[in-house]
Amino acid sequence: MKEIIVATKNKGKVKEFKAILGQLGYKVTSLLDYPEIPEVEETGETFTENAIIKATTIAKHFQKPVIADDSGLIVDALGGRPGVYSARYAGVNKNDTENMNKVLTEIKNVPEDERTARFHCTIALAYPDGHTECFEGNCEGKITKEPIGTNGFGYDPIMYIEEKQQTMAQLPLEVKNAISHRAKALQQLKEKWIEITS
Ligand code: IMP
Repeated sequence: MKEIIVATKNKGKVKEFKAILGQLGYKVTSLLDYPEIPEVEETGETFTENAIIKATTIAKHFQKPVIADDSGLIVDALGGRPGVYSARYAGVNKNDTENMNKVLTEIKNVPEDERTARFHCTIALAYPDGHTECFEGNCEGKITKEPIGTNGFGYDPIMYIEEKQQTMAQLPLEVKNAISHRAKALQQLKEKWIEITS
């Protein structure tokens, strides 16, 4: 079975990638399967730059096709923050809870209709020869006043999806995987992948 490597150690992301890409008949592995390989540092200033840096670095190492995503939360009332800094918004050694609390504190006085936000995901597919392709997806929502729900990861508990009338963290994984920013970007990657491998 052919292998495609996902360049991340984020368990939440790996679960989502496996659920969606597993349907293609490929063995989906991640950096969790290669503990000796460190995660690539995100030195870019955009989602696209970071996704390309991560995917090309790992593709060169393994000489296999690699996909990497860079994703984050864009809050309109915060001028787009935390954006590319989503994973380390409350500081490099902080966690999801502290990141969420920082956003909630910063928009404490923002009225409901101005609490609009979106999750963004850029996925880079890198080939061992250095060639790359990128795919993007967004998922719109509103920031809640407090965390609700225990599914998912990251900012899911404070992201209310109007269409579902629940936060992302209240949705079962298969529902999140039908509407999420990552799922939308992955869908495009999947179509491209089928085109190039058939
Ligand atoms: P990176 O893509 O590894 O730089 O990290 C993205 C960060 O954005 C994660 O650590 C989360 O904080 C946040 N994020 C990305 N995707 C999601 C998602 O699907 N749900 C909630 N938070 C997310």
